[in-house]
Amino acid sequence: MERVKVGIDLGGSHVAVGAVDLDGNIIEQYEKDFTVKEKVNLLPVAIEFMVEAIEHLKTKYEIAKVGLGMAGTISNGMVLKSVNLGIENFDMKKELEMKTGLQVVIKNDAKCVAIAEYQSEDLKPYQNVLFLTLGTGIGGSYIYQGKLMEGTVFEGFEFGHMVIKENGLLCRCGKKGCFEKYGSILAFKTKVIERLNLSHDIPGPELRKKIDTSKAFIEDIIEGYIRDLAIGISNLVNILEPDCIVIGGGFARYDYLLLEPLKEKLVNSKLLFNTRDDIMIKTAKMGNDAGVVGASLL
Ligand SMILES: [Zn+2]
Repeated sequence: MERVKVGIDLGGSHVAVGAVDLDGNIIEQYEKDFTVKEKVNLLPVAIEFMVEAIEHLKTKYEIAKVGLGMAGTISNGMVLKSVNLGIENFDMKKELEMKTGLQVVIKNDAKCVAIAEYQSEDLKPYQNVLFLTLGTGIGGSYIYQGKLMEGTVFEGFEFGHMVIKENGLLCRCGKKGCFEKYGSILAFKTKVIERLNLSHDIPGPELRKKIDTSKAFIEDIIEGYIRDLAIGISNLVNILEPDCIVIGGGFARYDYLLLEPLKEKLVNSKLLFNTRDDIMIKTAKMGNDAGVVGASLL
């Protein structure tokens, strides 16, 4: 049997469990989109899916260990708080190790993306890289002078929960006006779905097709989304001045539509303290696979 590592990317809308070979390539993957109904009580559904997928993989591969990247604050395998998964103080490591009999390592998903992506040749020239994952919420991590920055007890880097609007929309964290209520890809998709009268469970490829054929009806939504996204990112640029910004998560699937307008907004509006002609923003090279590969490298 081939020896592999298992990487899991667990988000608020989607879970992927992949067998990753020793060169870092995903050789087999099980994925699931959570339905609106399942999201109400996501934890048992997610655990059942992850355990079943691992059991399938066990029949074909020798599994060295399991890495899990998930949204939220993780400390020694404990999920202290994950607002978009609705989990608080849950010993995920213990639960998964008990159910699979394998060693499990857990880390914040945006940090997993940074670990995976920073290996690419593409990012070698950059010492300071800001990573953002735009999905159900907004995750973040920062490579400073070539090293992943980490908190001590709390993870920090909760960029998604910086307030960009006073008395704005209520966030699942309990605060109002958080960046992720405006800049996550879920925020964008929700507005589009409501405008075009679609089901909230519409599969991604179908939604993208609808968007491409209805651009005229949603231009204002795109514009508003880009403006809010640019406000949040400009705050981070003004604080950190990264050499490069990498955006992953579900955003990677909409980059053809959103990336250029975002760059243009950042450069041409008066949001950046240090004005410039261009800004280096890339889409995560591994796209949505970065989470799985990064988790397998833990
Ligand atoms: Zn929040």
